[in-house]
Amino acid sequence: MTGDADLLLQLFHRYGIHAFRLVNGRYAATVATGQCVYLATDHAGSVPLYIRPGRGEVFASTEAKTLARHGGPMGLPVPSARRVRRLAGVYQVPAGTVLAIDLKTGTTDAHRTWAPALSRRIVDEDEAVQSLREVLDTAVRSRLGQDGPPLVVLSGGIDSSGVAALAHRAAGALDTVSMGTETSDEFPQARVVAEHLGSHHRELTLQTSDLLARLPHTIWAAESLDPDIIEYLLPLNSLYGTLKGPQRRILTGYGADIPLAGMHREDRLPDLDSAVAYDMETFDGLNEMSPVLSTMYGHWTTHPYWDREVLDHLVSLEAGLKRRYGRDKWVLRAAMAELLPHETVTRPKLGVHEGSGTTSAFSLILTEHGVPEESVPSAKRQVVQELFDRTVVNGEHPDHVSTWDVVGEVADQLKERRT
Ligand code: ATP
Ligand code: MG
Ligand code: MG
Ligand code: MG
Repeated sequence: MTGDADLLLQLFHRYGIHAFRLVNGRYAATVATGQCVYLATDHAGSVPLYIRPGRGEVFASTEAKTLARHGGPMGLPVPSARRVRRLAGVYQVPAGTVLAIDLKTGTTDAHRTWAPALSRRIVDEDEAVQSLREVLDTAVRSRLGQDGPPLVVLSGGIDSSGVAALAHRAAGALDTVSMGTETSDEFPQARVVAEHLGSHHRELTLQTSDLLARLPHTIWAAESLDPDIIEYLLPLNSLYGTLKGPQRRILTGYGADIPLAGMHREDRLPDLDSAVAYDMETFDGLNEMSPVLSTMYGHWTTHPYWDREVLDHLVSLEAGLKRRYGRDKWVLRAAMAELLPHETVTRPKLGVHEGSGTTSAFSLILTEHGVPEESVPSAKRQVVQELFDRTVVNGEHPDHVSTWDVVGEVADQLKERRT
């Protein structure tokens, strides 16, 4: 066995498409057998996969933009996959799916290889906490790599602090980095964790104007149209772009809030579980975990909370273990209690878009361009859409696209519509 691709091929020879039901990983894969092409995503679709099928051929890519200007025939429809905005003939393979395309007939069969649990388990506190500690520890260990200490992007929130503590324990050494801006940061909270663990820690302060200038790059990388997601990803993409030095394997605490409903600041358990069910039903296609956000700067990112075993465990816990004793993400906090300072374990959730001042900086350039407060959300949606059209659909290099020009255009359009 020489690598992951060989392993996958051997599994495929033995199990056929069921091979993809066996693998817990971060991948997009294609296997061609002559008459048939198989295109597979991991359970979370954490490496996006796009296709453009035609008669007797299939173009496939982990980035939609590379399929945008392919000439030739329009391509065949793929009813089981999502179309990509303004890219005729281009489809995104759903998360946790193998598409089998018959090249002779052009027909496509979709096989789901994973789905989020709809049922919930009632387990006692100790068991929930203990098994979370174990699956998360395994997920972190399996992501460490062999060359030097891992790097954790650390906010001092419970999600990234938990990953940092486990990575430190497993690797024996740890690098951490925190980003902030001139308007806001979480440096003191991250420092508490870095000092507690004894990690080699760095703080990077970016200007919000530099952050906003990278909006085209974030959208180009994530190929996502959701303005909220783009606000989460912009500070991280900017952080990856600011790390100097050799390429790193980066562990994040990204995604823990989805199965734990950390964002919803919700006390009532039915609403909390509705939020989990909704978010697990709708994550696909947002491309939050896309590796391109960091690989465009030479770094590899990996997200232990969306490890298949961790995710299955977290999603399926009954809501009362997620919100308990007045605390959000209770089960995770309890699992990490012995590894982190008390103030970290009890620190309320703060989103990366809030802690870095990203949301408010993006809102501010819109209102400065005359967009009324109540139109800011729809203006953000339009800015993101326009940047997607220019960088992904039209193939403009993000360095050559100005956030301020696009904001100006969107503000003018809104003004015209009002008059
Ligand atoms: P919590 O959700 O409880 O605030 P968190 O801060 O670790 O915990 P998020 O706010 O959801 O998680 O942010 C997602 C991930 O992005 C973090 O787990 C962390 O890896 C990374 N991140 C967030 N803010 C920063 C920051 N200021 N500097 C470096 N990395 C960050
Ligand atoms: Mg979080
Ligand atoms: Mg946070
Ligand atoms: Mg620019």
